[in-house]
Amino acid sequence: MDIAERESRRLRAEALVESLTAAGVAGVITTFVDNSGILRLKTTPVRQFPEAAAWGLGFPDVFDRARFDDTIVVSGTGAEPIGDARLMPDVSRVVRLAAQQGWAWAPADRYRQDGTAHPQDSRELQASGRTVKCAFEIEWVLSPIDSAGFSPAVAGAAYGMSRFAAASDYCRELLEALHAQEVVVEQLHPEYAAGQFEISVVAESPVGAADTGVLVRSTIRAIGVRHGFRTSFSPKVDVGGVGNGGHCHLSVWRGHTNLMAGGDGAAGMTPDGESFVAGILAHLDALVAIGCPSVASYLRLVPSNWSGDYACWGIENREAAVRLVPGPPESSAWAANVEVKCFDQFANPYLLLAGLLAAGRDGLASHARLPAPVGVDPAWLSAEALAAAGVRRLPTSLHDSNEAFVNDHVLTEAFGPELVASLAAIHASELEMFAEAAPEAIAAANLWRY
Ligand code: GLU
Ligand code: MG
Repeated sequence: MDIAERESRRLRAEALVESLTAAGVAGVITTFVDNSGILRLKTTPVRQFPEAAAWGLGFPDVFDRARFDDTIVVSGTGAEPIGDARLMPDVSRVVRLAAQQGWAWAPADRYRQDGTAHPQDSRELQASGRTVKCAFEIEWVLSPIDSAGFSPAVAGAAYGMSRFAAASDYCRELLEALHAQEVVVEQLHPEYAAGQFEISVVAESPVGAADTGVLVRSTIRAIGVRHGFRTSFSPKVDVGGVGNGGHCHLSVWRGHTNLMAGGDGAAGMTPDGESFVAGILAHLDALVAIGCPSVASYLRLVPSNWSGDYACWGIENREAAVRLVPGPPESSAWAANVEVKCFDQFANPYLLLAGLLAAGRDGLASHARLPAPVGVDPAWLSAEALAAAGVRRLPTSLHDSNEAFVNDHVLTEAFGPELVASLAAIHASELEMFAEAAPEAIAAANLWRY
C-alpha cells in the first residue's frame, strides 16, 4: 500500500464523514475475525475515520494466537508480544448500524506496519476475483438476557406460529434493521430446536458474503439486547438438542452462466460445476477443521441432526455434508447451488470461504468427478453399504480434522505457514483445555462465545 493508495482511502472516507455525522453517527466500529472465529474490534470517532482509513488502527499480532476464551497460545519462542498489525477499514463497506444507535461499522483487512499484506489476514486471503456467489445461513437461539445457561426465551413449535407470535416484534425489528443496512434477506423463521430462529440472505461475492455474515450476526445480537434476549450462535447449546449450523451456499459462474445447472455433468451441473463440488468433497475432512474449529463443534456434528456429518453429496439430502439444491426447474439457471452443511458459526467465515475456494479450484484443475449421489440418510446404511458407496463419517473430533488439515497440501499452501501454525496451535490448545471435559461442560464454556 503506497502513499497514493492511502490518500485515496482518506479521501473516500472523508466523503462519508458528513453524511454519517448528519445521521447521528458518533463513531465507527472496525472489525476483523480472528483465528478462533471471534469478532474483534477497535472504534474511532467519526471525524477521525479518514485517518484510520489511510493509516489503519493498531492491533496486536498476538491475537493471531488467541483462543476463544482470550488465552494466548504461546509458541515457546517469546515472540508473541512483538508486532502490531494495522486494521485497515474497507471504506467501500461502511454501514450505519440500525440496532446500535450512533455507530457505523466497517470490516477490516489487516496489513503490516510497512503497508504490505499481513500473512494471517483472512479477509484478503480469499479475494480471488473468481465469480463464485456465496451466502451463509445463520441459526441462533434466544435465551433471557440475564441467562447464565441456556433456557429458551420463547416457547412454541418449530416453524410454528406459537413461537413466532411470541417474538414477532423482535423479528420485525430485525428485518427493518437489516433492510436499513442494505442486507437483502430471503427468509426468516422459527427453526427446529427450542428457542431457535434462522435467517437466509441473498448470495454475493465471497468477501461480501463473509462481511454480511458478520454484520447480520452483530445485528441479531444487538436487536436481541433491545428485546431482553441473549443470543447464542454456538453449535450446541443443549447437549440433547439439535444445534446451530452455519451452512454455506455456493454457486460458480462463468459470466452470466450458473455452472451448477443446465449442463451434462452430475445431476445437471456443468462438468466444471461438478468438478468444483468434487474438489470440495475431496478436501472436506481438512475443511472441517476450519468450518468446525472448536471442540464444541463435534457435539453438533452427529448423525441424523441435519448437520451433514457424512462425507458425501446428495440431491436435496439434508444429511449429506454437500447438498445440491437445484431449485424449481425454471429457476435453476440462477438459483441452483450447493449447500455445504457440516459447518458451524464458530468458523471464521473468511477463512472458511478461502478454504472452500481453494478446494473447488483444485477440483477444477484436476477435472475431478463426483461419485454417485446418496439418496438416503447415510446413518441408515449398513457399514457394508457405506463402504460400497465410498461414504464415511466426517472427522468426529477436532483432533482428527486438524490432522487432515495440516496434511492437506492444497489448503496449507493456500493459507501459508504462519496461519497454519497459528490454527494448529489454537486447535491443540483447545483440545488440551477440554481433554477431560464432559459434553455439558464443553457446551457451557462455549455458549456465549460470540
Ligand atoms: N440446525 C441444523 C444444523 O445444526 C440445520 C437445520 C437445517 O437444515 O436448516 O446444521
Ligand atoms: Mg436451518
